[in-house]
Amino acid sequence: MEKVLFKYVEEPQQYLIDNYIKNGGYQALPKVLKDFTPDELIEEVKKSGVRGRGGAGFPAGLKWSFVPKTDVKPKYLCCNADESEPGTCKDRVLMECDPHMVIEGCIIAAFAIQAHHAFIYIRGEFAYPAFRMEEAVNEAYGKGYLGKNILGSGFDLDMIVHTGGGAYICGEETALLSSLEGDRGMSRIRPPFPAIEGLYSCPTVVNNVETLASIPHIINRGVDWYRTYGTEKSAGSKIFSLSGNVNRPGNYEVELGTPLSYVINELGGGIQTGHKLKAIIPGGSSTPLLMPDQIDTPLDYEAVAEAGSMLGSGAIIVIDERACMVWVAMKLINFYQHESCGKCTPCREGTLWLKRLINRIEHGEGKKGDIELILDICENIMGRTICPLGDAAVMPTESIIKHFRDEFEYHIEHKKCKVKTDYAFE
Ligand code: SF4
Repeated sequence: MEKVLFKYVEEPQQYLIDNYIKNGGYQALPKVLKDFTPDELIEEVKKSGVRGRGGAGFPAGLKWSFVPKTDVKPKYLCCNADESEPGTCKDRVLMECDPHMVIEGCIIAAFAIQAHHAFIYIRGEFAYPAFRMEEAVNEAYGKGYLGKNILGSGFDLDMIVHTGGGAYICGEETALLSSLEGDRGMSRIRPPFPAIEGLYSCPTVVNNVETLASIPHIINRGVDWYRTYGTEKSAGSKIFSLSGNVNRPGNYEVELGTPLSYVINELGGGIQTGHKLKAIIPGGSSTPLLMPDQIDTPLDYEAVAEAGSMLGSGAIIVIDERACMVWVAMKLINFYQHESCGKCTPCREGTLWLKRLINRIEHGEGKKGDIELILDICENIMGRTICPLGDAAVMPTESIIKHFRDEFEYHIEHKKCKVKTDYAFE
């Protein structure tokens, strides 16, 4: 397929407003302000079928439609640029290389929900993308795309770039809102959902960078064009971040429904020379594994779910036969335990115990019964937490044990690694 979101990503200085305009940018916004009412715009985005690209895959237009129209409180739009899921690095590139595409999408979304304040919440470590976005926001004000009476339409919008505190949990929409309000980034119990009670207890839409960047293209080229890409339920294109043991790691834009094997073998140049595929994490580090015989799974929300995993944020991590899966499980649980905000007991205590158990197995100190204990703790976390981080810690752990239990057993029995046979712990 033609590149849509990444069409100009390698063009030098596409981040400058004049170059964005030269390449067809800021054409969707005047069209929206002139030809659409907010309700019509929401319907158009609903018809496009575009789904949230941050991980949950929730339909964007439907989310916008939940904002109450009669509520007299201010409404807010938040662009979730807190890209933190290990393996994911696509939003960063969009913001660095084509920031006005993201801004134009934000302005259109704000118009749809009649928000007059929009926030771009960028993870704290993203100093350069934050700088780029700030420069671009200033340029947009300078040309009249932001501020009072945008392009003479009577619609006002102010946009603020806000850097976060560098916590993974701030990518979860309710924790993001707490952080934006100046509180510690901790998830909130839902309902109420942000569309009803979000930032400062006002109706708020939180959308991912890539989702918002898709909106100007949908408006410019139409719903029918957008739906020529992807599948019926997973429309459009998506950027996949490919990493791990492949020859050409990188960000690749393909239409949804493209076989995973095409991304790994054709775009990514295949498994690193001389090595054999062992497992694939298809949607970011929180998603269950796919096995080598599932490499032809189409990359769309439904097919990946049917294969037993999730499309998530689209971060494909390829693992070859050199990796010890106990080590992989340890790395993942160490991350999720560290990033637990501590608000709910199953996640706070459970991830800590998982970390202790998996670390001791990895380091040759595992005991008989540890695997059963790990699975029991997983069962007591899954579905019992305020936000999805608890599940995110459990899903890869359970999946790795399901497929590679023998490696855990070997570690416990022999006090050394089955894969890295040259290495013993004693
Ligand atoms: Fe915090 Fe974990 Fe509970 Fe989420 S699941 S609210 S990260 S303690």
